[in-house]
Amino acid sequence: MSYHVNNEGKIYPCRATVKKCPYSQFEGRHALNKENLYHMAVILSNTVEPSKNMFREISNEGGVSDLSSLSKELEESKAPVELILSSLHYSIEALEKKENSYVNSMKERAKELREKAIDNMVELLQRDNRIGETSYGRQIGVFHKFPESMQKEAREIWKRYHNYYRISNTSSNDDYLIKSLENKVRNDISQMNRYMSFAKSNNSINNKKLEYMKSEFNHFSKLMNVSKIISNRHTYEKNEYETVDDIKNKVIALNNDQLLAAYDGCTVSDDYVRDLMVESDNFSYKMRDDLSPKAQDNLIKWHKTNLELAQRYELRSLNRILWGIEIRKEIRDRGGSTDFVLNSEKEKIDSLIE
Ligand SMILES: [Zn+2]
Repeated sequence: MSYHVNNEGKIYPCRATVKKCPYSQFEGRHALNKENLYHMAVILSNTVEPSKNMFREISNEGGVSDLSSLSKELEESKAPVELILSSLHYSIEALEKKENSYVNSMKERAKELREKAIDNMVELLQRDNRIGETSYGRQIGVFHKFPESMQKEAREIWKRYHNYYRISNTSSNDDYLIKSLENKVRNDISQMNRYMSFAKSNNSINNKKLEYMKSEFNHFSKLMNVSKIISNRHTYEKNEYETVDDIKNKVIALNNDQLLAAYDGCTVSDDYVRDLMVESDNFSYKMRDDLSPKAQDNLIKWHKTNLELAQRYELRSLNRILWGIEIRKEIRDRGGSTDFVLNSEKEKIDSLIE
């Protein structure tokens, strides 16, 4: 099954073949795995600014291993989960970019040093006739102590481009040159190893924090997606009694984006949403020790509100069916209209309805 994230940042199973789905014209809206759409969902729906405190901690520490830097802001936030998500989303993005560019520059530097060392090793092969033509030859000097893979590459270049050519060395000047070449190679190799270990160690430290941040991001994204699905301001949120005519009029009033989003919202099965609720532990909140009691109160309130929304959602099942019927009709009616910007071809809309 494929999923898509709609214009309201809600993730639903996609029932069109991906090519025919109205969201297929946008990059990054479909995935086989819900988790892969969580970042896109934040980009499309989040209106909360990320936390500056968390950014500060990340730039000092290279990541966070708990959410304590958000605690103060969470105490007052009107949208605590959005705050967590937006902060983690931008932080993960920044960290991945930084880590990649740091590690890459280390690796790049190590590669340059390796190439430089090999160039000098080729020159050693040309000048130092104590080194055998093959690696089984005489092993005098330091050449054979260099890493084997590098010796091999140097010999290959020597053979391919210089055809085992040697510059005759007769003067004491040449001995001096050989010594200094050996030193250069030795220095470059030791620098190269240092850059490689920088790249590796930095990777492992940041990865641990990054993994933690990603797991929190996925946890709260999962909750957020259910929360968005069970609360839909255009359709089933209100408790009032609606006649079919009421629904018709409301559906007609939706703009194209809202209509498509409402289509998702009113045609997703109750069982699917129930499964999402189970995956989210029915919005039961687990106490945590990285946040202040006041911050946790705010999160507890959020969880409780969503549990109430979920109960209301269950009761509106029949209403959603009526909405679904009217939405299908309306999508069909708009099919011929050029106003239907997202999907002007009738064929595509029909495939969506089938
Ligand atoms: Zn789709």
